[in-house]
Order: sequence, then C-alpha cells, then structure tokens
Amino acid sequence: MLNPYLVFWSIALLCVAAEWLRPARPIAYRSVFWRDLLALGLYNLSFLLVVQVTDRIPVPQYLPAALDQLPTVGKLMLFYVVEDFGLYWVHRLMHTSPVWRIHRWHHSPTSLYWLAGIRATIPHIALFNLTYVAALPLLHDASGWAFQVIMVEHVLRNNWMHLNVTWNSSWLERVFVTPRYHHIHHSCDPAHQSKNLGALLTIWDRVFGTYYNPDDLRGELKFGLSERVNPVRLVIGV
Ligand SMILES: [Zn+2]
Ligand SMILES: [Zn+2]
Repeated sequence: MLNPYLVFWSIALLCVAAEWLRPARPIAYRSVFWRDLLALGLYNLSFLLVVQVTDRIPVPQYLPAALDQLPTVGKLMLFYVVEDFGLYWVHRLMHTSPVWRIHRWHHSPTSLYWLAGIRATIPHIALFNLTYVAALPLLHDASGWAFQVIMVEHVLRNNWMHLNVTWNSSWLERVFVTPRYHHIHHSCDPAHQSKNLGALLTIWDRVFGTYYNPDDLRGELKFGLSERVNPVRLVIGV
C-alpha cells in the first residue's frame, strides 16, 4: 500500500526538477509557494470531509456481466474514460454562471506551476469526487493495484496540468491533456474562456466544441481572475 503523502512529495520533487530544467515562464516561487502550501492543507482537510459523504453514496453495480470478465487493465481503461467524461461535464458546469463561484478560486493564480492547481473549494472537490464515485463500479473485482495507480495518477495529473514547463509538441495532445493545453484554460483572454476543459483526455473538447489548439496560440498568456473577489468568499466558494 503506497503512502499518499510520500507519493505526493516524490511527484513534487520531479515537478520541481522539471520546472528548474525547462521553465516556460519565470515564477516568483517565494511569493506563491507558502500560500499554495496552505491551500494544499485546506485541500487535504476538505477532501477528508468530502469522502465522508461521497463514500456513503450507494452507487448500484451497473457493470454488465460480460464486462466483469475483463482483465483489470481493461476495467481501468473503461473507468478512466467514464470518469473523464464526467469530469469534463462537471468542469463545464462549473464554468456556467450559477456554479462559477465554487470554481473561481482554482482560476485565481496569476502564475501557473505544479502546485497552483491545488486551490479547490469543498463543493468543487465534492463535484469532482462524485465522478470518481460514479465510475467506481467499473472496477468491480479489479485487482488492488488499480486503485494505487489511480491514486498516483490523480496526484500526478493535477501537478502535470499546471506544470510550468516548456512543451512545444502536439503529438501527446492528440489523446492527453498537456500543461500548455490546460494553461490556455486558465488564460484571462476572452478568446480562451471555457476552452480546453478536459482533465485527462482531449477528445471531449474536440467533440463538444470547447477545443482550442495550443499551436494556434500567439503571444504570452496571462492568468488570474478578471473580477475582484473577497478572499474568504473565494476560498469558501460563495
Ligand atoms: Zn476551469
Ligand atoms: Zn487548472
């Protein structure tokens, strides 16, 4: 059984090394890191609270008997497609006016780097966690290692999406979200608003009309909110 804290900080070290070797933009780490470390502490507390509720939701076993015979790798792939489809729509919902306030804290960083994506309100975490809970029956009778893979991948993914690293190749984006792909999602430019909503796969943006090709990008991106929000309201999501 992997220790999640050890996993988190091991991945963090890799991210720090990647940002040191190939930084995309200069980051004033000293002015943002301690605040984001506080956000990480809040995230961990909020997550513990959220799972107390979401883990109790009775999700019926809907995996067809024929698919129950799939090897764990097959079930894991199925799980990721369904979870990611759910994440896309939940994220898209959070970019509509009634729900935007629970998500805007995530869009508040003016510098993007590996820890910048940790800002998430309790309802934001709960909605995202619901997609995990809803996809969980697809892992019925799967080997225990699948859950370890998911834990590591979820930590890695959030850091990866926000990583401050130079990435000029589009080959991976045919399937997966890359840092530059997600950075466009955080851009203040109105042309980029509610674009590139995908979390893991880029297919949902392409199919549902929210795709912005990173190769079409001209000029430097600017990040952060265009509205001024009371910090307490920002963190609570109201
Ligand atoms: Zn967003
Ligand atoms: Zn983000």
